Amino acid sequence: MSDADDSLPSHLLVDVQGAATRLLAGGVVAIPTETVYGLAAVATDDDAVSRIFRLKERPATNPLIVHIEGPEQLPDWAPDVPAAALDLADRYWPGPLTLVLNRARTVSDLITAGQDTVAVRVPDHPVTSALLAELRRRAGHPVALVAPSANVSGTVSPTTASHVINGIGRYLGPGDGVLDGGECRVGVESTIVDARHSALRVLRPGAVVIAPTPVPPNTATPVVPGSQSSHYAPRAAVTLVTDSAELPTPRGRQQLGLLAPAEIDTPAGYLRLGSPEDDTEFARGLYAALHAADDARVTQIFVVPPAAGALRPAVLDRLIRAAAARPDQAEGTESGLGS
Ligand code: AMP
Ligand code: MG
Repeated sequence: MSDADDSLPSHLLVDVQGAATRLLAGGVVAIPTETVYGLAAVATDDDAVSRIFRLKERPATNPLIVHIEGPEQLPDWAPDVPAAALDLADRYWPGPLTLVLNRARTVSDLITAGQDTVAVRVPDHPVTSALLAELRRRAGHPVALVAPSANVSGTVSPTTASHVINGIGRYLGPGDGVLDGGECRVGVESTIVDARHSALRVLRPGAVVIAPTPVPPNTATPVVPGSQSSHYAPRAAVTLVTDSAELPTPRGRQQLGLLAPAEIDTPAGYLRLGSPEDDTEFARGLYAALHAADDARVTQIFVVPPAAGALRPAVLDRLIRAAAARPDQAEGTESGLGS
C-alpha cells in the first residue's frame, strides 16, 4: 500500500465489494492496474462512460481501452481476431499490452471515438482481477470496464491512490470511489499494438516489447488518437539532458529538480526527484517524481533518461511529450490533449 494511505479521505476509499456496488449503480471508480490507476466505468453503461470524458476533460476524439477478465471475453468486443493477435494475448495477458482490433458492432461509439476499431487488454493487478471476478459474480455474466488514466487530460498519470485523490478527488461524487491497490508496479501506460493484420504495429511503447514485423507496402497508416505531442505534463517545465554536464547553475528563486540514474550525482542547489537503478525503476518512479516536483513547487525539472533497457523507449516517449508541454498548459484545462 502507498505511504500516504493514512491521509486518504475515507469517504472516497472503497474495497472490492464497494467498488463493485458503485460501478454497477453507474458510478465511476479509480482502480489500480500494473500500469497506472484507471478511472473505471462499466463499458456498456453509456452514461457512466460519458461521465469519464467530462470528469477528465478528455476530448471525445480520444478512444478508451476496454479492460476484460480474460481472452475468452474477446469475442464480445472483437469478433475476428487474427492468429498473431491471439498469440500475443496468450503470451502477454494478463499484462501491459493493449490490442487494437476490428470492433464488434455492439461496441459504443463513445468507447471507440467512432472508429471501426476497439482497444482491449487484460490488466494484471490482483485487486482489479478480484473486482472483475466480483462484477461477473454479481451480474451473472462477464463485465468489462473502460479505464483511462485517472487524471485530468494532459496532466501526469497517477501511480498511487493519493495521486488520484489529489488530482481528481474533488470531482468525484458520493456514488464514486477510489480503490487503493498500492503503487503501480510498471508505472507507465500499456504498450498498444495494432493487431488487425499479421504485420503488427506498435502505436505506443510500453513495458511489453514487440519485435517489429515488416509492414507490407500500401498499408494505411493507423489512426492513433490521443497520441498528442504534448501530454503527461507536470506544472514545471521538463527538460531532457544527456548528462550532468548540461545542467545549468541554479539562479535566484528558481527551484530546479533532477531525475537521473543513480550513478549521476546531484549538483548543488538541485532537488533530487529520484535515483533509479535501471530502466524498470525509472518507469516505476517516473510519474511519482513528476508529481513530487509539483508538490515541491519545482519550476524546472531536468531529466537524464535511462541509457538502456527494454523500458527506455516507453520512458523516453512519455518524457518527450512531457517536455513538449508549455508549463502554463499543464493544468490540462485546454482541449485537444490526450489523457
Ligand atoms: P489510455 O490513455 O492509457 O487510456 O489509452 C488510451 C489510448 O489508447 C488512446 O489515447 C489511443 O491512443 C489508444 N486507443 C484506444 N482505442 C484505440 C483505437 N480504437 N484505435 C487506436 N488507438 C486506440
Ligand atoms: Mg492517460
